[in-house]
Amino acid sequence: MSDSCIFCKIVSDEAKATIVFRDGQVTAFRDTHPVAPTHILIVPNKHIESVSALEIEDEPLIGHLFTVARKLAEEEGIAKGGYRLITNTGTNGGQTIFHLHLHLIGGQRMRHPMG
Ligand code: 5GP
Ligand code: ZN
Repeated sequence: MSDSCIFCKIVSDEAKATIVFRDGQVTAFRDTHPVAPTHILIVPNKHIESVSALEIEDEPLIGHLFTVARKLAEEEGIAKGGYRLITNTGTNGGQTIFHLHLHLIGGQRMRHPMG
């Protein structure tokens, strides 16, 4: 838990968000500025700054992020049509919130092959 991290606050219910899934490892909630009809952020419950801060013991957790993304894509009705999973990493990668997250984006045809 990082005191100044908005995603840690969402995980601990100190800040509001539209939560769509939560278990002991991850929390998923809707992005406040969606770029497509479905735009969900899936985050580890523990504070990890970015992919650059991952440790070898985080591998099962990262696998879980992806299977939760698959499940949510099915629930959102976007699995068949396809969707995009993005993890921006660091400033040049476009990361603005420094708590690792997977964007699940779908419900429309993406206009650019990389975003
Ligand atoms: P990044 O740019 O770090 O990959 O993505 C951060 C995402 O978090 C952005 O899409 C932004 O709209 C979203 N975001 C920023 N602050 C909040 C917040 O307080 N609540 C929610 N639900 N999303 C947020
Ligand atoms: Zn955090």
